[in-house]
Amino acid sequence: MIIFQSVIDQFIQYAKEQYPNEACGILVSSLDDQQINEFIPIPNQSSNPIHEFEFEPSTIIKAFHRIEVEKKEWIGVIHSHPISKAYPSSIDVHNWFYPELSYWIYSLLDDQLKAYTIIKGEVREIPYSTFN
Ligand SMILES: [Zn+2]
Repeated sequence: MIIFQSVIDQFIQYAKEQYPNEACGILVSSLDDQQINEFIPIPNQSSNPIHEFEFEPSTIIKAFHRIEVEKKEWIGVIHSHPISKAYPSSIDVHNWFYPELSYWIYSLLDDQLKAYTIIKGEVREIPYSTFN
């Protein structure tokens, strides 16, 4: 998996702005190339945004529409952990139903970005490289 450094920089900036709440959004590639070249922020509408995230539906519907029009592909989700490490919480695992997507977490605690798959509750870290 490849992610553009500019996407990471953009997300980190957004995560800092949303602190102490979790920031979240979706990651997009061009069709079939598996290179993440866009981050789309989605407001976190969770009633407990310090500990979990929930996408605000109207923004995500608009984002999916634009992705389709631009012939891009939704390939991942990203959120921040403001005060904990970059590992999926039990709530994250419980709430996740998209085994085909990559699941990214950035920790503001230690400035780490990690990518995972979560398939039937099993968390597996996946390697990635950055592209300038
Ligand atoms: Zn989380």
